[in-house]
Amino acid sequence: MEHDLIVIGGGAAGMMAAICAAEAGCKVCLLERNPKLGRKLYITGKGRCNLTNHCPSEEVLANTPRNSRFLYSAMARTSPAWVEDFFQSLGVELKVERGNRVFPASDHASDIIDALFFRLRKLNVTIIQDRAVSITEDSGVVSVVEGESGTYPCKAVVLATGGVSYPATGSTGDGYEMASKLGHSVVAPKPSLVPLESEDAFCGQMQGLALKNISLKVKNKKGKVVYQEQGELLFTHFGLSGPLVLSASAHMRDFEKEQYTCVIDLKPALDEQKLDARLLREFGENTNKDFQNVLGALVPRLMVPVMVELTGIPADRKVHEITKGGRRRLLETLKGLRINITGPRPIREAIITSGGIKVGEVDPKTMASKKVEGLYLAGEVLDVDAYTGGFNLQIAWATGRVAGECAAAYVAGRSE
Ligand SMILES: Cc1cc2nc3c(=O)[nH]c(=O)nc-3n(C[C@H](O)[C@H](O)[C@H](O)COP(=O)(O)OP(=O)(O)OC[C@H]3O[C@@H](n4cnc5c(N)ncnc54)[C@H](O)[C@@H]3O)c2cc1C
Repeated sequence: MEHDLIVIGGGAAGMMAAICAAEAGCKVCLLERNPKLGRKLYITGKGRCNLTNHCPSEEVLANTPRNSRFLYSAMARTSPAWVEDFFQSLGVELKVERGNRVFPASDHASDIIDALFFRLRKLNVTIIQDRAVSITEDSGVVSVVEGESGTYPCKAVVLATGGVSYPATGSTGDGYEMASKLGHSVVAPKPSLVPLESEDAFCGQMQGLALKNISLKVKNKKGKVVYQEQGELLFTHFGLSGPLVLSASAHMRDFEKEQYTCVIDLKPALDEQKLDARLLREFGENTNKDFQNVLGALVPRLMVPVMVELTGIPADRKVHEITKGGRRRLLETLKGLRINITGPRPIREAIITSGGIKVGEVDPKTMASKKVEGLYLAGEVLDVDAYTGGFNLQIAWATGRVAGECAAAYVAGRSE
């Protein structure tokens, strides 16, 4: 059976594009290389899928540090409220959590995938498991998608193959290659929302330690604060991870030229004066105890040897022997534990790929390629990326919808 439209990639953007095109009356075939659709969606939000953010479209744009202007039109057409209504109309109950993050009420990402899958089936979208390898054009118009196992003639194509992070989910950058062969430029992919590496040995010593309610500041080499937030952080064998660190990494956009330092305030609720009073009280009540024992009341166990090392106060020093200068060093370390960052973890470990198909070569109103007629692009394959909070999926839904609807309108126009 010949299809009007081939959608390449059964992720968030591709499924939305296929649904919207089919709703507009287009004969759609969805090609997905994996046996199941939405493999990446399945692991989003730790398996709970933070599918959007309950906020106005302007806020989505404000949370998109890269090429947000390109998304103006798509977000005006498809707001987070539209996305919420869409999933609710498919029978998925939703809930809003801290930071306006929207999740399925069941806490199961699979509910989102199932809802999309049943809608695709209802609309008679053909779903084929095949890996697309190239898109052929004929006199500047797309005509065929070549797959590893089949050939798919068509009038239009939506390319929604995602980025290159978490490649085990199927997103391995195939779309970049297919688009480049059609004349598109690809901005070199970089990791974003990614754990950070440090050569400071104490990170490894504290491996597995999760700190809640700490404050993190990231400074560049000029000492300018590029990120500051309170939340949760995790020490690992390579450096730092956890929600706060992933969010911070999106603001550290120039690892080639910059040197970043993370500064952790372990006691953000206490200013220096209050913390000093607390230390004096702790010391006063334990004058004959060893320093390391008193530290145990101030920081987690795994951090005690690190504090000993960083303050230079011997572990067995009696508390009454600690000088004012020693107490000051302890206070400064508690309020500003410095970690030098050497770089991000590899892109395969990043939540998001920053970079991708250059947005200047795509019409923001329709997601149509400016290089070849009949080609539409959607989702993470494009050079757009946002912070955490459901914004990246919001981008995938919004661009997927525009690409699907506009591809369907294009096909209808050609058939007239
Ligand atoms: C661990 C993790 C957690 C995340 N959590 C969240 C979250 O809670 N909220 C949020 O907003 N964002 C989250 N994200 C980001 C979000 O998942 C992505 O932004 C989103 O999935 C992008 O959608 P997409 O459709 O463009 O690409 P993808 O979801 O990557 O889908 C692309 C699809 O194309 C298929 N494909 C690739 N090449 C081919 C080919 N040649 N032929 C056929 N098929 C092909 C792939 O197999 C894949 O199924 C998370 C990401 C990760 C890795």
